[in-house]
Amino acid sequence: MPPRRRRPCLVCGTLTRNASRCDTHQAVWQQQQDRARGSAHQRGYTQAWRTTAAQAVAQHRAAHGDRCPGWGVPAHPASDLTADHRIPKARGGSDDPENIGVLCRACNGRKRDQ
Ligand SMILES: [Zn+2]
Ligand SMILES: [Zn+2]
Repeated sequence: MPPRRRRPCLVCGTLTRNASRCDTHQAVWQQQQDRARGSAHQRGYTQAWRTTAAQAVAQHRAAHGDRCPGWGVPAHPASDLTADHRIPKARGGSDDPENIGVLCRACNGRKRDQ
């Protein structure tokens, strides 16, 4: 194998035989890519879903204001509202508005943990 030209790492500038990053930063970058891809995939977060979710939150705000209906807790004021599937996509839930519920981040996290 002919020796490859060394290039500076995009992050730290250390000369490396890798395409664009030193071994350390290549590993870091790969982890970030995997994590981003994995979490987006697991939650079914596509661009279409993000649009649907933003619309659901906007409609909820217009109707109820900054208020979380609560999950395992009574309804309460919340400014960090997020939309989520009532029936998870993994269990056949759809992106239709009737399958989308709005909760604050804390309640959404609690729901997801169940
Ligand atoms: Zn580096
Ligand atoms: Zn809440």
